[in-house]
Amino acid sequence: MSTGTYLEVEDLKVHFRTEDGIVKAVDGVSFGVERGKTLSIVGESGSGKSVTSLTMLGLHNTRTATVSGRLTIGDVDIVSAKPETVRRMRGKDMSMIFQDPLTALHPFYSIGRQISEAYRIHHKVGKDQAWKRAVEMLDRVGIPEPARRAKQYPHEFSGGMRQRAMIAMALVNDPNLIIADEPTTALDVTVQAQILDLLEDLQREFHSAIILITHDLGVVSQVADDVLVMYGGRAVEKGSVERVMRSPEHPYTWGLLNSVPSLKGDSNDELVPIPGNPPSLLNVPPGCAFNPRCAHAMLPGPCAIVRPELEVVPGDGGHSAACHLPVDERKAIRESDVRKVEV
Ligand code: SF4
Repeated sequence: MSTGTYLEVEDLKVHFRTEDGIVKAVDGVSFGVERGKTLSIVGESGSGKSVTSLTMLGLHNTRTATVSGRLTIGDVDIVSAKPETVRRMRGKDMSMIFQDPLTALHPFYSIGRQISEAYRIHHKVGKDQAWKRAVEMLDRVGIPEPARRAKQYPHEFSGGMRQRAMIAMALVNDPNLIIADEPTTALDVTVQAQILDLLEDLQREFHSAIILITHDLGVVSQVADDVLVMYGGRAVEKGSVERVMRSPEHPYTWGLLNSVPSLKGDSNDELVPIPGNPPSLLNVPPGCAFNPRCAHAMLPGPCAIVRPELEVVPGDGGHSAACHLPVDERKAIRESDVRKVEV
């Protein structure tokens, strides 16, 4: 079974021309993920995380988008590949689990038909064989009575069952890369935990690389190996989950930790929302994009003038952050003001 980095992203930029100016949805992001590993991309709406994931699927090819940098899946650079090449890869080499299965599943076709047709796009098999495969996949993702359930329509499934069906559809062609965009946000906490467990089990079985897009650091601590925190279209912190959760370096990550209920955290903790709103990607503030919301910003000063680059934290296993605060100052603030999340 192959190992090594399966997805490699280098200095990816995705900019959109609009009547009001250039929207820099992704503005120079780099990361990689190996098969069998999960990278979580974390950030609020408008951080650029979803555009990054849609670009992995080659869905950036609109007339208004300009994409540069490299995004290699296997040995194909998605940025420079022909749309036809990327279309053939979609579903087989990489597939997506969406937040809302109701919008991703067709209401007029049975669940079994939708999964079997997804299979037949990439396999020359008859309808019966594809149907058998669909029933097997429904069984594998924990749908009871899969042969009967395969004949039902999306509205006849509960929210958690629909999400399981969509996972079955995403995995039916055994893809090497799965992109899960907020896969549990619409579900209650118990079903959310079941779906996350299922994703972990399936990853062990299929040895896929998983990109998990979320705004919830509680979810990240439960399932991811590595984490990339995005803000204003750029990466502001990245590293292993253990290091980022145990010693978060960026004030934005501190804000996320203090504001999001965790699956494992103490429910009595007071949640403190991050003040203000994420910047418009049409008009990102100069210097550090987080400076209008940052309690530790040096203003006037470097935070308003110089854009911080990701820098490795000395002696912390490649963990890096983009912040002008000195490392020892960050450590002191973190230890007094940031909520701990169990990893
Ligand atoms: Fe805050 Fe300045 Fe660090 Fe940005 S660079 S996160 S504004 S302290």
